[in-house]
Amino acid sequence: MAGNWKMYKTAGETTAFFDKFKPLVAASTHCEIVICPTFVNLAAAVAAAAGTRIGIGAQNLYWAKEGAFTGEISGPMIKAIGAEWVIVGHSERRQYFGETDETVLKRTVAALEAGLNPIVCVGEQLAQREAGDTEKILTGQFNGGIAGLSDEQFSKIVIAYEPVWAIGTGKTATPDIAADAHRVIRAQVQAKYGKDAAGKCRILYGGSVKPDNVKSLMAQVEIDGTLVGGASLDANGFSSIVNF
Ligand code: PEP
Repeated sequence: MAGNWKMYKTAGETTAFFDKFKPLVAASTHCEIVICPTFVNLAAAVAAAAGTRIGIGAQNLYWAKEGAFTGEISGPMIKAIGAEWVIVGHSERRQYFGETDETVLKRTVAALEAGLNPIVCVGEQLAQREAGDTEKILTGQFNGGIAGLSDEQFSKIVIAYEPVWAIGTGKTATPDIAADAHRVIRAQVQAKYGKDAAGKCRILYGGSVKPDNVKSLMAQVEIDGTLVGGASLDANGFSSIVNF
């Protein structure tokens, strides 16, 4: 169960969140818990989560290890701060910052080389779904952004299916719609990496997950976890999701 904090919370707010959140999930051993704050709050989050089962992740990385890339942050820098995860190819990165399947693959490889666990996001836009192109879009994103990984590299990633029309809109995909999309992605995994990899691969659902809809989503056998934006900002709300 992963939380994407997007561009929210100061360092002080980050620490205050963990003070409240930690006791609420102290007994939660049924799943991995990951929180992805902004780059500048990674250190505060790592310190606050020390000694707990809560993993910390970044929301993006650049693919070079270092160099003249003003404003960018590399995988080894994220790793050195104590984070273990990184979100790659979030739809907001694709929409506002020119992320493409090609750069998603570069960032994913860079994350793996740095020893980070990438959560690679895919998902269709509303117009694409309405045009009946969901399968084509998901397949294209898989082939362009993921299928370039070796078998070993692939075994270390988590995929997040996030329909763009459901992100931050309050419109959650129904459990059946989400499960159908997960089946499409898993079929791609099986075709490229085999049955065993398809069975083991974790596919998270993301898009307006809330305490009151998480149970029905997680009841779908295809859905292995959730990537949560807005509702992960509140310690009570996110702990309810974790403890669904
Ligand atoms: C996200 O940012 O990945 C997300 C799913 O956002 P929200 O839960 O707010 O829709």
